[in-house]
Amino acid sequence: MRKIAVLGSTGSIGTQALSVIREHGDLQVEALTCRGNLSLLEEQIREFRPKTVCVGDEKAAMELKGRIGDLSGMKICFGREGLIEAAAETDADLVLTAIVGMVGVEPTIHAIEAGKDIALANKETLVTAGHIIMPLAKEKGVKILPVDSEHSAIFQCLQGNEGNRIKKILLTASGGPFFGKTRKELERVTLEDALKHPNWSMGKKITVDSSTMVNKGLEVLEATHLFGVTLREIQVVIQPKSIIHSMVEYEDGAVMAQLGTPDMRLPIQYALYYPARLSLSGDRLDFRVLKEITFDEPDEETFPGLSFAREAGEKGGNMPTIFNAANEYAVGRFLEGRISFLQIYEMIRSAMDNVPFKNEAALNDILETEQETYEYLRNAKVS
Ligand code: NDP
Ligand code: MG
Repeated sequence: MRKIAVLGSTGSIGTQALSVIREHGDLQVEALTCRGNLSLLEEQIREFRPKTVCVGDEKAAMELKGRIGDLSGMKICFGREGLIEAAAETDADLVLTAIVGMVGVEPTIHAIEAGKDIALANKETLVTAGHIIMPLAKEKGVKILPVDSEHSAIFQCLQGNEGNRIKKILLTASGGPFFGKTRKELERVTLEDALKHPNWSMGKKITVDSSTMVNKGLEVLEATHLFGVTLREIQVVIQPKSIIHSMVEYEDGAVMAQLGTPDMRLPIQYALYYPARLSLSGDRLDFRVLKEITFDEPDEETFPGLSFAREAGEKGGNMPTIFNAANEYAVGRFLEGRISFLQIYEMIRSAMDNVPFKNEAALNDILETEQETYEYLRNAKVS
C-alpha cells in the first residue's frame, strides 16, 4: 500500500485530501499535522491512525496527548522540528504539503532529501525556494506534483507532450470578488467582502490573496519554477467562472486546456494518484447550461499584486521572499482587522523598496530575509 503524510490536514486542502483518501481507501496515512485545531485533528487521528502527528507548539502537543492517551505507539511532535520529522522521517512515499505560508519551505526540502514525492499545494514554498527545490527534486529523482488547480491544469495539458516546447502558458484567474472595482471603491472594502470568493471555498489567507491578485502573482512565480518557463511566457487571463483551469499554447499554435467544475478534489486526487484518473463524485460540466465562457484582461494598476510579483521574479535573489513574506505579514494584519485592504499593497511595496536586497538566496538567506521583512514591517510606519 502507498503511504502518505498530510501536512496541514485540518485545512481546506488537507480535509479535502482526506476525503479523497477516505473515498478510495488504498493509501495508508503515515502522518498528519496541524497548528492548533486539535478537535479536528483528534477525529482525523481516530479515523486514519497515523504513526506520527505534529502540532504547532509544546502546549498543543501536551493537550493532544491528554485527548488521545488511549492510542499507544503514536508519536506526537511539535513546532519546526516536528514538522520536519512528519515530512521526512516517516515511511511515507508521498508528502502532501497543504500548510499555509513559508513555514512549508524546510519540511519540503527535508522530504525531498529523504526521497519522497511531493504533492505540492503550498505555493509560498516554491515562490521563495523554487530555485533550491526544483534542482534538488531532479537530483533526488522525486516528483513534484502540483495541487494548485491552475498548475495541475497546466501539468495535465503537458501529458503526452514531453519534448514539445511550451510557447506560452495561459494562466487563468477568476479575478476574485473585487474584479471591476475602482481604486476608490477598494478604499471601503472590508475583510468580510474579501473573504467572499465567487467560485472557490478556501482557507482565509489564499482567499484574501485572491482578492488582491497577489495569489495570481504567487502562481505566476510558482509556474516559472514548476514548468521552467520565463515570466514573459506566462499570460494571465481573467475567466470569471473558473471553468477553464489554465491552458498551454505550443509552437504550432495548438492550445490545450483543462476544464471542469471548480472542485479542488480533482487536482488533489490527480496529484495523489498520478498518472491514474480515478472516479470522482460531484457535478459535471454541462455545456448546454454553461452556454458561454467569457474572458478579460487583468487590471494590474488597480490590483498591483500581479505586477509586484513579476517585479520580484525579474529581480530574483531574495526579492520573491521579500514580496511573499511582506504579503504574509500584511494579510495576517488584515485578517486581524488591523489594516485596511489597500494597506496590504502599501506594506508589500514598502518592504520591496526597503528590505535589503541580496542576490544570494540560499536557504539561510531566505529564512533571514523572512525575519528581516517581518521586523521591517513591525517597525515601519505604513499608512
Ligand atoms: P488553510 O488555512 O485552510 O489550512 C492551513 C493548514 O496549515 C491547517 O491545517 C493549519 O492548521 C496549518 N497551519 C497553518 N499555519 C501553520 C503553521 N504556522 N505551522 C504549522 N501548520 C500550520 O489553508 P488552505 O488549505 O487554503 O491552503 C494551504 C496551502 O495550499 C496554501 O499555501 C494555499 O495557498 C494552497 N492552496 C490552497 C487552495 C485551496 O483551495 N484552499 C488552492 C490552491 C492552493 P490549523 O487548522 O490547526 O490552524
Ligand atoms: Mg490556484
